[in-house]
Formats: sequence, C-alpha cells, structure tokens
Amino acid sequence: MTFTVAIVGRPNVGKSTLFNRLVGKRLALVDDQPGVTRDRREGDAYLFDCRFRIIDTAGLEEAFDGSLEARMRRQTERAVEESDLVIMVIDARVGVMPIDEHFAKYLRRGKTPIALMANKCEGKVGEEGLMEAYSLGLGEPIPFSAEHGLGSSDLYDVIKEHMTRAVEEKASSDVFEKSEPIKPAPAMAAKAAEAKAAEESDSEDDEYPEDEFEGFEDDGEGRGPLQLAIVGRPNVGKSTLINKLIDEDRLLTGPEAGITRDAIAIEWEYRGKPLKLVDTAGLRRRSKIEDKVEKLSASDTIRALKYAQVVALVLDADGVLEKQDLTIARTVIDEGRALVIVVNKWDTCKDKDAVMQRVKDRLQTSLPQVKGIPVVTISALKGHKLNKMLDTVFDIYDVWNIRLPTAGLNRWLAELIERHPPPAPGGRRIKLKYITQARTRPPTFAISCSLPEDLPASYTRFLENNLRETFDMPGVPLRMHMKKGD
Ligand code: GDP
Ligand code: GDP
Repeated sequence: MTFTVAIVGRPNVGKSTLFNRLVGKRLALVDDQPGVTRDRREGDAYLFDCRFRIIDTAGLEEAFDGSLEARMRRQTERAVEESDLVIMVIDARVGVMPIDEHFAKYLRRGKTPIALMANKCEGKVGEEGLMEAYSLGLGEPIPFSAEHGLGSSDLYDVIKEHMTRAVEEKASSDVFEKSEPIKPAPAMAAKAAEAKAAEESDSEDDEYPEDEFEGFEDDGEGRGPLQLAIVGRPNVGKSTLINKLIDEDRLLTGPEAGITRDAIAIEWEYRGKPLKLVDTAGLRRRSKIEDKVEKLSASDTIRALKYAQVVALVLDADGVLEKQDLTIARTVIDEGRALVIVVNKWDTCKDKDAVMQRVKDRLQTSLPQVKGIPVVTISALKGHKLNKMLDTVFDIYDVWNIRLPTAGLNRWLAELIERHPPPAPGGRRIKLKYITQARTRPPTFAISCSLPEDLPASYTRFLENNLRETFDMPGVPLRMHMKKGD
C-alpha cells in the first residue's frame, strides 16, 4: 500500500502544474483552456524525503446527467475513494467561486482527509483569495505557487503530517520512506525540490541514453513493468482498445471527439507480468493542428514514444500505413523502441489479403532496416485477438531485452568474416576482431575494428542483417558500433 494523494479542484486552478512539479516530468497537459485535464493520471511524486503516489483528476464539475462533466466527476469520486489525502486546489487570484464551495461541501462529507491549497499565490494579487479560502471550512489553506515553485515547504509539512498519521494508524511503516525527515529552510525548499525534480528527470533520461557508447561495458538490466504506448491517428480505435484491455472505464470514451488527449499511465498485469500502459492521443497531421490543445497533444504523443519500451501503432484496416503512420513507425525505430503494428477493425475489413499485402509492402519499402516487424490484426470493438496482440508485445519485449553471450557472438563474427571478408579500400584490409553486446534495450553491439572510418555502411548493414537472422531478433531496432582497435 502506497500513500496516495489526489489533486482535485475546478478546471484551470493549476492542478496539472502542481502534478508536474511533484512528479518532475511533464506527464500532464497544461493549458489556459478550461477542462484540458480530462482524465485522471497518476505518478510517483517526490517532495524532499516524502515519496507518494499522486493522482491528478479532471476538474470537479457540477454534474449534468450523462455529460462529460458528470463522467469527469465520477472519475474524481473514484480517485478520492482511492486516496489517503485529497488536496483541493483553488485559484487565489480568482478567489473562491461558487463551484469551489459546492465541492468543498461535497468533500467535507467524505471520510478522506482534505488539505486546501490556495494556488497562484505568488505576488500580492493572491492575498485576498488566500484569506477567502478559510471560508471553505477546510482548515488553514496552504499558500502555494505551482508555477513558481513556492510553498513546497508548507505543502511538505501537511503531507508529512498525514503520512505519519497514516503510518501510525495502519502500522505498516515499511512502505513509507524510512529516511529521517530533514526539513530545509523555506527559501531552500523550492530549490531543493527543483534539484530533486531535475535529478529525477535526468535519471529517467539515463535509461535511454542517446546513441552514445562508452567501451565494452554492461548496462545492467532491471526489469520493471513493460511500458507500452498505444499510438495512432484519431479514430483508429485506440480508446476502444484500451478500454477493452483494462476492462475498466478509467478512460472516458464517448462521442466527444479527441477525448484521450494526453499521456496517461495505467498499470496492470497480463498473464502475471506487469504491464504499464501509456495512452497517447492520436498524432495528427501538423497542418491540421488547429488549436493549441491539439498541438500539445501531438508533442505529448512523441514524448510518450520516448517513455515507452514497446509501441503498438494502431491502424485502421481501412487505410493502413499512410505517410503519417510511417513517420510514427520510423520515429519509434529511431528512438530504439520495439514496434508492433496493430491493424484494427479487422471485423469490418473486406479484402483482408489485400490489406495484409499492403502492410507488408509498405514496411518492406519504408522500413527495410528492420526486418520482421510483427503485424497483428484485431478487433478492438469485439475484443478479438487482443491476447495475441499482448503476447506479441511481450515476445518482442523479450527480443528487445535479449542478451547474447560474447563467445557465441565472436564465433559468428569469425565465421562470417571467413565467408564474406570486409572490403580492402586502397589495398588495406579492414580487420574486425571482437564483438560483444554492449547494451540491451535495444540490442546494441560493439565491434573492434582496425579502421572504423573506412568500413562502408553497406558492410555494417550486412553484418546487422546477418546478426538479426542468425540470432533470431526480428522486428527490433539493432545498433552496431565500430570501435577503434587493432
Ligand atoms: P488545471 O486545469 O487545474 O489542471 O490547471 P493547469 O495546471 O492546467 O493550469 C491552468 C493555468 O494556470 C495554466 O496557464 C498555468 O500556467 C497557470 N498556473 C498554474 N499554476 C500557477 C501559479 O502558481 N501561478 C500562476 N500565475 N499561474 C499558474
Ligand atoms: P481513437 O480516436 O483512436 O481513440 O478511436 P476510438 O476508440 O474513439 O474509435 C473510433 C471509432 O471506431 C469508434 O466509433 C469505435 O466504435 C470504432 N471502432 C473501434 N474499434 C473498432 C473495431 O475493432 N471494429 C469496428 N468496426 N469499429 C471500431
């Protein structure tokens, strides 16, 4: 059991900004347009020595039957139920609104402890709102500025107090941080939080280093949950698929267009193996991006690709692998992620053979460097072949994680060179001596080469293809580095 904090409040008060600050990476969307934060999202939050789970919810809106607001409210109710502490956020610059009062009343009725936060308190403009906040009957408001990172130390005090109480009550201290709380001076607090956030996001990046290679060393393999992103253009059926997969209405589906706008992480188990889903909005053609929200969503999708290990690119059987789909596919490969092509709406597809042929042709011509990208056909609507899809996802994940023994690799290299020696430009034979697997995720190999600059790219490609075939590594990006050695 992890201590869980839910952030609630009407739209535009700064919930997403707060969430981002605490989680330390830009998972949620931030925008001036009310209601941008539509679905709940969760993350691991850090505040000095406190670690907790945080849930960002859609705006608490008054319910109108069957409307988006009503469903958003249900999501919020669920988040509140699941949390140990609720932080209700108001906008101190605007002051207390009737809707704030309405939801304060609603929250007061529940059992979950509530903390009140007056956000946007930087400067003098927020002072009045901060005073008004007392009228909500939720105790002393925490003055805060999510945008400027002020007030972390006050927030820390409140969270720590509730965590400590929860530990005492539940007597299960093992799940909480054991380190002694060290409370920095308020002025240092914001800086410390920022440094912490930077550190966290750095270490995130470390997991996927750029195409750098530092000698023949191992990267270690911690296997957490498989992180899967489901991407694709609007309307291909991503939301339908996700809903079917998790069998829970955490994501809001419905007639409203483009409802799944940003990255949301959901975790569950498939056949006993943990799977974390990063849902993403459909990538739209840039020229069709009309408003700011759509723009954000597109770049968020690209980000989600980066955080995912396996990417399922969903296509509509009605129009497979168009230019934009191929762009996504190429990005996935360039980022070193494993790709699975998912052809959806197979139930209504008339000429199945023709569609499959087209998919194969397009992959062959547009992504020739990665042979064997898996293609699965599903019907998200009917729930057909979803297990096959997930099995494929886990299979390719295994290949992506593969670790080949150095002895076997060197035997392969020696035999290959014997049969197909490297070229001898200007009469100087290029010697390839040793090979080792430098990294996994994706499989990355290093070869010591007497004249790395002179080795033609075509020969490297030949090596790659042969390696892929020999060691059975279809569909994943491979990397090969030539390292100077004699
Ligand atoms: P949400 O809808 O409640 O999740 O609100 P957002 O996090 O999307 O923020 C709404 C707007 O308020 C954005 O334009 C933010 O940049 C802005 N905002 C968030 N926190 C602060 C703050 O502390 N001070 C000020 N001045 N603006 C903020
Ligand atoms: P998203 O924009 O990618 O999230 O797409 P949605 O999940 O909202 O689906 C768009 C439309 O395609 C909806 O009307 C779905 O009911 C429909 N759809 C989704 N999957 C299937 C499928 O497997 N077969 C059929 N026939 N329709 C589907």
